[in-house]
Amino acid sequence: MSPSFAGVGVSAGRVIGPVRRMPNPITAPADGAPLPEGTTAERESARLADAARTVAAGLRERAATATGDAADVLKATALMASDKTLLKAAVRLVDSGTCAESAVWEAADAVATQLTALGGYMAERATDVLDVRARIVAELRGVPAPGIPAAEEPFVLCALDLAPADTATLDPARVLALVTSEGGPQSHTAIVARSLGLPAIVAAPGTVDLADGDVVFVDGIDGTVVRDPGAEETALAAAYAARVPLPAFTGQGQLRDGHRVPLLANVGSGADAVEAAAAGAEGVGLLRTEFCFLGRDTEPSAEEQVRAYRAVFEAFGDSKVVVRTLDAGADKPLPFLTDSTEPNPALGVRGYRTDAAVPGVLERQLAAIAEAAQGTEAEVWTMAPMISTPTEAAAFAARCAAAGLRTPGVMVEVPSAAVMARHVVSEVAFASIGTNDLTQYTMAADRQLGPLAEFNDPWQPAVLHLIQTTCEGGTAAAGGPKPVGVCGEAAADPALAVVLVGLGVSTLSMNRRALPAVAAILRTVDRSDSQRIARLALGAGSADEARTLVRAELPDLDVYGL
Ligand code: PEP
Ligand code: MG
Repeated sequence: MSPSFAGVGVSAGRVIGPVRRMPNPITAPADGAPLPEGTTAERESARLADAARTVAAGLRERAATATGDAADVLKATALMASDKTLLKAAVRLVDSGTCAESAVWEAADAVATQLTALGGYMAERATDVLDVRARIVAELRGVPAPGIPAAEEPFVLCALDLAPADTATLDPARVLALVTSEGGPQSHTAIVARSLGLPAIVAAPGTVDLADGDVVFVDGIDGTVVRDPGAEETALAAAYAARVPLPAFTGQGQLRDGHRVPLLANVGSGADAVEAAAAGAEGVGLLRTEFCFLGRDTEPSAEEQVRAYRAVFEAFGDSKVVVRTLDAGADKPLPFLTDSTEPNPALGVRGYRTDAAVPGVLERQLAAIAEAAQGTEAEVWTMAPMISTPTEAAAFAARCAAAGLRTPGVMVEVPSAAVMARHVVSEVAFASIGTNDLTQYTMAADRQLGPLAEFNDPWQPAVLHLIQTTCEGGTAAAGGPKPVGVCGEAAADPALAVVLVGLGVSTLSMNRRALPAVAAILRTVDRSDSQRIARLALGAGSADEARTLVRAELPDLDVYGL
């Protein structure tokens, strides 16, 4: 085996190609450097405004030729480049005698610091501001903007991390794979790589030692990079290149023996829901209502909420739509519900817990969900995030009943709820396991941290045992068995999906793009196979061992290059 290093595979695929590194980042200008001699503040401000306009126009132009997520990211970055707040702050500095480069650098720093302090989604926008700043300074200096290097032959793009605007414009015909030394499974790099179908590995520190022209094998399935690949890697890449295209999802999730496993979608808006329905999703297993209102300082009005939820219900006719009440906090801050100064937000007042801190918001949200459901045919289920005890589950069920919502449920994403599943689920009509948080809390590893990505792996046997306990709790619940679904990222991994079904999970909810792969692999096993395979995973001593044992039982993963 040739020398190799590991990272976290975030998008499947196996390729061999030459390395191209991202160009050096734009260096910082001197702090508070004065206006160049012979110019005036007016002329320098005009130069700055011109540069910002050129950058915004360039990004808009690229957005016009891009599609899907790429177009959205580019449009958002272009908006940031034409943002008046940033420009005004920079012009004020120019007026006080600072040169344009230093002024925009300092002004963007202040904006990025504010966004970072807000945490979560807003903190991620700080990267966009710093990206825009680098582009404006490059324009002022007359040097090429930071971005994807040009090369004749397709290449493996290596970088520290990629800015959203870079990842969005990756041309899959020119870029074979992405490898970054930083970033995590939830980074822009990971999301865009998956949407383009590019093999990708993040959090691979060995990337910094790669040079332009090095030939590497990238295994986005195992998360390994091999320099100077040999016969073994060449064979693996050839097998991947010869993979069979996935059949389109027929809209019926089931095992080979006909055992039904409805495949649902995770959505964050009406527009998402329309796309998910078009992709064949059998309903919505998770409507992240906080995604409808991210970036808002104030509670959305009843009308706004009704509009947002109804758009999702209407996209799905009479199918099931599971609405999750606001999951504010940690990676998803909502200023009207959460306290951004908490020292440890993931363990703080988040999800259902915000109801005690800010009474009234949950009650008004449940009323809006009930009103939105009226006049639609949707089968509306309602669940609360971050439930930790049976008492909370009972209180939430009572709230739902008071609002006229007939099917209350809980997310199981805190280990205590999994351990106490029988009691928790007895209080409600269903449970949905949030494997993203259940993994972070079981492993005590922040899900946003790249260096902890190895712990943050839902294949960790400890997590699988808690999923099994939750399913057993659902089966033994008072008043008869209650369904237990999964709506975390684990459901989107086709091999893990087989394990989840074997553990007793009844529905799987995922990003719509994962539907064809999960559906195809589920159809290759019977129920008894899935139970046997689940036992293999439960018996493993590590996440890697569980993954390897299970994958060996599912040959079609290789057929489809998954
Ligand atoms: C989860 O935790 O798995 C989940 C689905 O919720 P979120 O990712 O929105 O926290
Ligand atoms: Mg969660």
